[in-house]
Amino acid sequence: MDEALGLDGLRTQVRSMTAEIIQLVKKRMDLAQKIGDIKNRFEIQIEDEAVEQELQNDAQELGRQIGLDGNFIGRLLNLLLTESVRIQKFQTSKQPDNLNHMTMFMRAKKLESEGKKIIHLEVGEPDYFPPPSVKDALVKACQRGQVRYTEPQGISRLRAEISKQFNGVEKDQVIVTPGGRFAVFSAIVATVSMGEEILILEPAWPAYKECADFIGAKTKVISTSLEQGWDPEFEQIRKLISKNTRMLILNYPNNPTGKIITQDLLQKILGLAQENSIFVLSDEVYSGYAYSRFKTILDYAYDRSIMVSSFSKSYAMTGFRIGYAIGCKNIINKMTQIQAVAITSVSEPIQYAALSALRKKPTNNAQRIKKRLEFMNKRLKEMPLEFRPPDGGMYFFVRFIGDTKNTMDIIEDLMQRGVAVAPGIGFGRCYGNFLRISACQPRAILERGLDIIESVVRSR
Ligand code: PMP
Repeated sequence: MDEALGLDGLRTQVRSMTAEIIQLVKKRMDLAQKIGDIKNRFEIQIEDEAVEQELQNDAQELGRQIGLDGNFIGRLLNLLLTESVRIQKFQTSKQPDNLNHMTMFMRAKKLESEGKKIIHLEVGEPDYFPPPSVKDALVKACQRGQVRYTEPQGISRLRAEISKQFNGVEKDQVIVTPGGRFAVFSAIVATVSMGEEILILEPAWPAYKECADFIGAKTKVISTSLEQGWDPEFEQIRKLISKNTRMLILNYPNNPTGKIITQDLLQKILGLAQENSIFVLSDEVYSGYAYSRFKTILDYAYDRSIMVSSFSKSYAMTGFRIGYAIGCKNIINKMTQIQAVAITSVSEPIQYAALSALRKKPTNNAQRIKKRLEFMNKRLKEMPLEFRPPDGGMYFFVRFIGDTKNTMDIIEDLMQRGVAVAPGIGFGRCYGNFLRISACQPRAILERGLDIIESVVRSR
């Protein structure tokens, strides 16, 4: 009789079973490594969604037969899959998909330190300054002694001012964060657990995947294409949703494509999210640079949405490190707990500086970038490049005629000739023959950069 075995006996069984599981996991990892060697040798893509999906289907079927919870199986398998990918990526760390805008920025900085002049078209950092009132407010806050810790969620006056910018939002639904980046991070940590899934539309800002990887969540990618005007395919999103899908990330105006999707499509996607109880993180840090109709996700009143925004782009306040998120109170409370653990609060004087930015008239930054984009559009159209003019944001995402290798050579040539651009591969593995060109330089510098781009592209 089992009971006769007693507690100790059962524990012994659990212990030896755990050892067996660990040994099996080790064997599985060794196999993954062997597969990694082959992929490396034959330059085969590491992640293969179709193979992963087959494994998931088999595991779910087995789960049904033996009566094991499908959600748990999904999370466990995702953990194993994530680990296999990690092992294989480590083996192939020399493959070009480790390149992104940050690695180019670091390389450019190194060249500069050696005396070379570089035109920075790889970064998304406004070259102009915050409104003058921001500096005054910062100084005044210091003079008034507003230099203390604050409520982790952010000072009430700033949250109230932010909430006023949006219909029907209360200040308790707002959290002030150190940049939009931390809002993205804490939103993901607050809602997604290890082994659960996040859907990402590519090309995408790399931080979404980095955050997911950081917490052991699995990302599933919906690739959009230039041919389809960067519109995500609704059916593809639907197909990728599983029991373990917790979040979908949207980013419009998009970095890097500048795309803004139609309100109808967004409405449809939100319907799908609702049917499946999925959180939708809407990264709207470029909303200050929308040149066609743009509506914040908050206007759709979807209770599982989390909107992220920032002072970095709209007010050129990147170095101030301040942004915010808006969502329903219980999500914001969770994000506040994370923020309290991680950083206590955003710097108090910086919060007052942000408050003054919001209280002033809108800046003319959007107009300034729009003019630059128009000028860039004219120039780029004359080159042998393919692209869709952006609906918003501050970038062009252009495709070279030719393959990834050719594009890498072009990017290298450009760097040697003093122009840094962001390689498309950094925004997703399907974009190896793209590059992102930023409008964050004064017109004269942009012109020089585009002249060099033109001569390099034409010489190939
Ligand atoms: N989202 C996107 C799409 C971005 O491109 C960036 C910055 N490049 C951010 C969020 C974060 O910006 P910050 O942390 O400076 O607010």
